[in-house]
Amino acid sequence: MSARILVVDDQPANVRLLEAKLQAEYFDVCTAVDGFAVIEVAKAEQPDLILLDVMMPGMDGYETCRLLKDEPRTRHIPVVMVTALDQRDDRIRGLESGADDFLTKPIDDVTLFARVRSLLRLKAVLDELRHRECSDALSHVMAEPIGEGESVSQAVVISADARAATRYAAAMPAQVRTQVETNPVKGIEAARGQVDLLVIDLTSPGFDGLRLCARIRSDAATRQLPIIAVVNPGDVATAVRALDLGVNDIIHRPVDAGEMMARATTQLRRKRYADRLRNQLDESLEMAITDPLTGLHNRRYIASRLHQAIESSNHGGAPVSLLIADIDHFKSINDRFGHEGGDYVLRGFAERLLRDLRALDLAARYGGEEFVIVMPGAGLAEARAASERLRASIASEPFRVGDGQTTPVTVSIGCAQAMAGETAESLLRRADEALYIAKGEGRNRVEAAPAAA
Ligand code: GH3
Ligand code: MG
Ligand code: MG
Repeated sequence: MSARILVVDDQPANVRLLEAKLQAEYFDVCTAVDGFAVIEVAKAEQPDLILLDVMMPGMDGYETCRLLKDEPRTRHIPVVMVTALDQRDDRIRGLESGADDFLTKPIDDVTLFARVRSLLRLKAVLDELRHRECSDALSHVMAEPIGEGESVSQAVVISADARAATRYAAAMPAQVRTQVETNPVKGIEAARGQVDLLVIDLTSPGFDGLRLCARIRSDAATRQLPIIAVVNPGDVATAVRALDLGVNDIIHRPVDAGEMMARATTQLRRKRYADRLRNQLDESLEMAITDPLTGLHNRRYIASRLHQAIESSNHGGAPVSLLIADIDHFKSINDRFGHEGGDYVLRGFAERLLRDLRALDLAARYGGEEFVIVMPGAGLAEARAASERLRASIASEPFRVGDGQTTPVTVSIGCAQAMAGETAESLLRRADEALYIAKGEGRNRVEAAPAAA
């Protein structure tokens, strides 16, 4: 995995050392020698990860980290603080300033690379989401406190040691509802529910916690779930394997409650950020294929689905038929009841249309007061029957045009069945010609295009 890493240290010798180690692993390295330079370099170079020295003259690592996390263009970049101190308070201070992780000098290479790989994997997922969402409008989400104005976060603590599990659970942030499981099978079940964070004890002699982590990562329902693993301090091999399996964070025993809370908060914030990105992505996908006025599909979407249906029909699949429905004298509805009155009719039309369709049929608003219905699997007789049903349903009852007023509405419909080898354009044209005939014959009518050319 190649990535760009920004190394920050006021000691040139330290910079060179880290640079050499990272370059030997084929990482692309850029550097900065003080906190003030970091922000500028990070904005310009957009590194994938920042290794930040804590003890620097002028602006220290905590302050630098806080600035990086305040700046929308650098907020998403993971920060690993590198410190000579291994004091509880320093670690918590670092996590509270927004650091994603900690390494203690002298840096152990194996741990360094495992951490780097783990954070880069996570960043790759977030970047992919951010990229598709095409905006950083959500970057503030990472800075908001957990549990404000939204549903309660849920955590599950899994440890064979019930007392340890209870202690970890007690260290969760105040707004988090936590469940304790001493049985790994039950733990997995719990994780598949509405859960935001897992804490897994890898020091429990009772069960194989690494296997549990692997199971959770390989299950689609829990693949994205943040995991904090509890590891014995000297057990570098387990920590590294855990990170390589996709565990998001490591905390050492004996677990400090303040540190657990800070790490849990970071994981919950990240999950919330990723969840919102995903939701927004779903929403924008939805918007890209929907007509906002009627909620039906839009023209672009129906065109692509029509192409698909015709392709499959041309390759020996089921037949495809098409309806084009155009409201009669719609201009006069607008003239009499205003544009808003016209919009009421369009929405009402879509409702009646959906009521009559089969589950397979696809309905779209194709233009102003023109609708297209694709009927996969339907021959011309079926399409004609569906058209007649729709025509009758529209004419059966007047439409609301706002404020208690109603008006009768009628529709004309042309339908056609795709012929062997026919293109979507040609099918649409034949249905449109049938519609034109229906209009010419007096409207409130259905016309079917002849089966053979
Ligand atoms: P015909 O029976 O021949 O189809 O006559 P028509 O009046 O329905 O057809 P025409 O194409 O002349 O007029 C369609 C009108 O639909 C013109 C346009 O202002 C109106 N229109 C297009 N989009 C919308 C919309 O989103 N809302 C409303 N209220 N009117 C729209
Ligand atoms: Mg019309
Ligand atoms: Mg029209």
